[in-house]
Amino acid sequence: MAKLLITIDGPAGSGKSSAAKLLAAKLTAAFLDTGAMYRAAALAAMRTSCDLNDVTKLEEIIDKTDFKFEIEAGQMTVKINGGDATEQIRDPQVTANVHFVASEPSLRQRIVRLQRAFAGRYEKIVAEGRDQGTVVFPDADFKFFLTADAQERSKRRAKELTEKGYKVDLDKLQQEIEKRDRQDSTRKISPLIAAADAITVNTTNLTLEQVVEKIFGLIKNND
Ligand code: C5P
Repeated sequence: MAKLLITIDGPAGSGKSSAAKLLAAKLTAAFLDTGAMYRAAALAAMRTSCDLNDVTKLEEIIDKTDFKFEIEAGQMTVKINGGDATEQIRDPQVTANVHFVASEPSLRQRIVRLQRAFAGRYEKIVAEGRDQGTVVFPDADFKFFLTADAQERSKRRAKELTEKGYKVDLDKLQQEIEKRDRQDSTRKISPLIAAADAITVNTTNLTLEQVVEKIFGLIKNND
C-alpha cells in the first residue's frame, strides 16, 4: 500500500486529471488516471466489433487482453496488446462507449483490480476518477472532489479536443457531458459521488494552478 495516497474524484471536465497530474509532479508522486483504464477496456472491446451489451464477452476480452499502464515523463501511457493506445482511448467514439464497461459490476471489479495493482507499485500516488475515494481507496490519506458548472466543463473539454484536431460543436458537447454525468451519477454501482470525508473544491472560477495550490495547501496544513 502506498505511503501517501490522495484521491481526486469528479465529473468530466472538472479539472481533476490536470490537477492530479500537476499535484503528483509537485509531490513527486505517481499519477493514476483511472478513466484511462475504463477507456482502454472499452477500446479493446470495440476493436473486436462485439456487442458491447454482451457482458460475458466483455469479461472475456478484458481477461484476455494485455493492458499496460505506465508513467512516462509524468504522463500515464496505455498499451493494449503491446500497441500504444494513449491517444486513441481519447477518441469521442470511445468516450461514448465507456459506459458499457463502467456500469457493469463484474467489469468494474476487473478494472479496480488493475487500479489497486498499479497503486501498489508506488510509494506516493495521486489517483483520479469517479470512485477513488468512495470505493477503490476508502482509506486514502486525503480525498478531494472537484466540481465545476457544466458550461465551464464543456468549454474546457472543447479546448482539449480542438487542440487535438477534432471539430467541436459546443452545445452538443455540453449535452454529451451532461448525459455522461447522468450515466455516471445514477448507475447502481460506484456512482459518481463525493466521499463523506472528501473536501469539495469548486473549480469553475479557478485556474489549474489555483486549484493545485489550494489542494497542495490543504495537504500541507494537515500533514
Ligand atoms: O475521466 P474520464 O472522462 O476519462 O472517464 C471516462 C469514463 O470512465 C467516465 O465517464 C466514467 O463512465 C468511467 N469512469 C468510471 N470510474 C472511474 C473513472 C472513469 O466509471 N474511476
